[in-house]
Amino acid sequence: MSAGARKDPAAVETEVREKIHLEILKRTGAYHANDHILLPSGQHTSEYIEKTLVTTEPSFTEGLGAVIAKHFAQWPVDMVLSTGPGALILSHCVARAHPSRPIVVYGAKGLSGGKRRVSLPVEFQRLTRRGAKVLLVEDLVSTGSTLNLLINLVEQLGGQVVGIGCLWRRTSVELENRPVFSLVSRDFPTYDPDTCPFCKKGVPLNEEFVRRRHARRPSSVQEPKEA
Ligand SMILES: [Zn+2]
Repeated sequence: MSAGARKDPAAVETEVREKIHLEILKRTGAYHANDHILLPSGQHTSEYIEKTLVTTEPSFTEGLGAVIAKHFAQWPVDMVLSTGPGALILSHCVARAHPSRPIVVYGAKGLSGGKRRVSLPVEFQRLTRRGAKVLLVEDLVSTGSTLNLLINLVEQLGGQVVGIGCLWRRTSVELENRPVFSLVSRDFPTYDPDTCPFCKKGVPLNEEFVRRRHARRPSSVQEPKEA
């Protein structure tokens, strides 16, 4: 291989790091690859993340949280803020490993008048004093809409978002030019059933994840879409 064809060492390091993190997520059973999967949206894909399994292994979660904390160690952080139970476990691990010893608070996701909303309990709002430096932590960032709502909320309360740390970020997501650090940055293609290459090849369709979601959720409860 010629010197010109050699990859930038920083890019190689990122690639290796992502492979390790992907392997860790595979070990928790959360990451599925090389499959033909039906998504709740009706589209097909070859990769899938089961969000609820991401933080089931405490030592893995602690390790991944420490990597995120190390990345943001140069920034003073007063508070780590997250939404959702998976992100809360991860944010605890990030805060525990951050040299500023930040506190951990969490918001709640919900729907109001058909619009997605994020709110912060009053007790936590008091802690978001003017100028508080806030690190947002999320497990999976898919559309970025929850994070954008969180950024607005922090700023309304007078706080300042210093960055965003997450386990997995779909690369197409825009997050208002904030510094984002993700352990895995990866977008997997999704296909309409009539143009899906796996359907064309006759690969059996795995409907397990959609079935599981329906089984778990009572029909009267409307859950907001994935973040
Ligand atoms: Zn298909």
